[in-house]
Amino acid sequence: MCFDCKLSRLFVFFTCFLPACLVAGTVTQWSTIDALLEGLYDGVATLGELREAGDFGLGTFHRLDGEMVVLDGTVYQIDSAGRVHLPDDSLTTPFAAVAFFETDYRIIIPAGSSLKELEALIDEAAPSANYFYGIRINGEFELVRTRSVPLQEKPYPLLIKVVADQPVFEIKKTTGTLVGLWCPEFVKGINVTGHHFHYIDDERSSGGHVLAVETATDMIAEVAILRNFNLRLPELRTFREVSLGTDRSAELEAVETEQ
Ligand SMILES: [Zn+2]
Repeated sequence: MCFDCKLSRLFVFFTCFLPACLVAGTVTQWSTIDALLEGLYDGVATLGELREAGDFGLGTFHRLDGEMVVLDGTVYQIDSAGRVHLPDDSLTTPFAAVAFFETDYRIIIPAGSSLKELEALIDEAAPSANYFYGIRINGEFELVRTRSVPLQEKPYPLLIKVVADQPVFEIKKTTGTLVGLWCPEFVKGINVTGHHFHYIDDERSSGGHVLAVETATDMIAEVAILRNFNLRLPELRTFREVSLGTDRSAELEAVETEQ
């Protein structure tokens, strides 16, 4: 084979296969959790762009209009009344993180586990505290307690004010999927460190940001190890000007977990 032919084959190899290699195991995220805490709720990417970067993940929507679950390539929107919508690809998100989910290993979660207990089992099995992980757990639950967030008007309030009177849903005797992202401590301020789960039931009729669970049967947690992190920062003036230098971890704890 002549040198030129070899070169052109190499070119074909890199153009066809390399982008796929770069995408596998990659978390792609828009904006930062501290920007969201500061009330930056204007959308910065369309759901169409988001679905090009992953088929699994979580986030929220333009003007904080509900909780986002991305599962098997479909984006679900759980509004503040607890209803599930299939939003158009043109809708935007101010904050989301997605990946293409490929299971690296599985662990068993026993019946009767709480959220804290299942999180501890996932932590024990993780090969390192310095990677990201996607976690998918489908099964029957005695209870999944969720919340969603209501659509906001400008001037946007801080997230901690919004969640002070968040609608909470007790979803009992339900079958569905916990969609989780675990982020390492060193991305504090960028994303939620540790576990963050959203839920969508199999009927696609309920879900939200998870506050508590009780598993009804033994179930399998599928875990994807994610070693690449692609952070896309907004062009918006509000993002350029917001101050993101302070430690907001106590505020984030109050926003993300059951108090
Ligand atoms: Zn959430």
